[in-house]
Amino acid sequence: MPKYVFITGGVVSSVGKGIAAASLGLLLEARGLKVAMMKLDPYINVDPGTMNPFEHGEVFVTDDGAETDLDLGHYQRFTHAKISQKSNATTGGIYHTVIEKERRGEYLGKTVQVIPHITDEIKRRIRMLTAEPEDDADVALIEVGGTVGDIEGLPFLEAIRQFNLDLYPQPCCNIHVTLVPFIEAAGELKTKPTQHSVRALRDIGIQPQVIICRTGTHELGPDQRRKIAMFCNVTEEAIIGAPDVSPVYAIPLNLKKQGYDDIVLHTLGMTAPEADMKAWGAFVDKIRHPAHEVRIAAVGKYVEHEDAYKSINEAFVHAGVANDCKVRLEWVDSEVFENGTLPKDKLAPFDGVVIGPGFGSRGIEGKIRAVNYVRTSRKPFFGICLGMQIAVIEMSRNCLGLPRANSTEFDTDTPDPVICLLSEQRGVRELGGTMRLGAYRCNLREGTKAREAYGSESIDERHRHRYEFNAAYQQRLEKEAGLVVSGVHPKSDHELVEIIELRDHPWFCASQFHPEFTSMPLRPQPLFRAFVKAALEFRKSRVPGEATAVPIA
Ligand code: GLN
Repeated sequence: MPKYVFITGGVVSSVGKGIAAASLGLLLEARGLKVAMMKLDPYINVDPGTMNPFEHGEVFVTDDGAETDLDLGHYQRFTHAKISQKSNATTGGIYHTVIEKERRGEYLGKTVQVIPHITDEIKRRIRMLTAEPEDDADVALIEVGGTVGDIEGLPFLEAIRQFNLDLYPQPCCNIHVTLVPFIEAAGELKTKPTQHSVRALRDIGIQPQVIICRTGTHELGPDQRRKIAMFCNVTEEAIIGAPDVSPVYAIPLNLKKQGYDDIVLHTLGMTAPEADMKAWGAFVDKIRHPAHEVRIAAVGKYVEHEDAYKSINEAFVHAGVANDCKVRLEWVDSEVFENGTLPKDKLAPFDGVVIGPGFGSRGIEGKIRAVNYVRTSRKPFFGICLGMQIAVIEMSRNCLGLPRANSTEFDTDTPDPVICLLSEQRGVRELGGTMRLGAYRCNLREGTKAREAYGSESIDERHRHRYEFNAAYQQRLEKEAGLVVSGVHPKSDHELVEIIELRDHPWFCASQFHPEFTSMPLRPQPLFRAFVKAALEFRKSRVPGEATAVPIA
């Protein structure tokens, strides 16, 4: 049975609980411990799969096909914890289970209530995370979404209070992450919101042992540390200052300097060898001091929420380091190409173009024009999921002479449905959790760029889409458009096209799966790495001598 750490947040949302949890996971792993990680989300959606990424951030997909909160992406990038269906539970999912049980008559005679039935189900989910022998861990890190004081979060906090008691005399560690704002007029950091937040937590019966104080661009001073310690009933060494640090991968190093992992282990009554953070530190140094730079255009819907494509952004950071190169990813709204601007005019300065995932028809025609430009101008191109579908539509229209070729997602009456629903998706009516989800095997063809990038003949990558490449057009696309199907998923009756590329092009690859979900800092995703390499070569080829001397802002 693992030791438990609970991470809650106070004062404001987006305070950085996910990174605080992931950082601790990383530091404990570096000390030789095995960690398990979980996120409890107070919203009523059963999972975030149907939530708008522009509001809620990206939906992170696990190997076993769960659509989860983006914080699980942080866990996956920072640790080796197994991230699965069990790693995320929402209020909606918890109630769903309890109500189903009630309908089956499993509570016969009882009034079903938040305490104990909902809290019992929350505790059961927490225990389930490590219940199987192969999932056993030394430490389980459980993050509670939302902010202390929210109505929705109460059952989760109550369950944690009980969990602390259930495990007695074995200690748990409760970490509270708060904001300590700087008030300009007073010229100082204010600890009062933190005091109130911890008081709210203690009202519920949870006494934090560690407080992480987010202080923006300021440093937490000894006076504030003393004050927070006294008012919140926490030892001074366990008050950790967390100013904004860039890149995000430097945060665990900063927390470590203040003894974050030591304090947690001490609270849990555990000992472990010192952490070796050399490789991680070298990775952070490389991000800060790259030798080269490339500019990549991400063509899509205008993105206000920087978390909407979180994993893609991070995968480019990892791939950049692998190429000793800063990747400047800039968003270009595809709709401008529908309103008169030529892709050439906007995209010419870039060293590569990526088209990422998406749903719905807005901006699709603009993306098709963008693909036409990169294909014909031989600029490196990387398509991800929708990006692959767009590439197929573009080639069908412009190389096969099928002007109305389309995906049936955007034109149900197209005479040439080059992207369409397969029979297994045709009867699907419910939208939640019914896409093709999770990891599928993909066999790579010899002599392809994909095979070269991966260096292996078969891979597993994660999916999240409904529409597929229509095999009826494959032969013509291969013959007339120079398309190469470089990877397929073998099925009993037919093959699914998982990755395509172009024969006569420096680097033009597009995958139906989402490679971004498996990229890690010290294990960059192969397609991202190869694409950045191709973009760097493209840049070197067009500006002689520039590649090593570009100014890096
Ligand atoms: N909308 C497309 C589909 O459902 C692509 C989805 C995606 O890019 N994730 O197939």
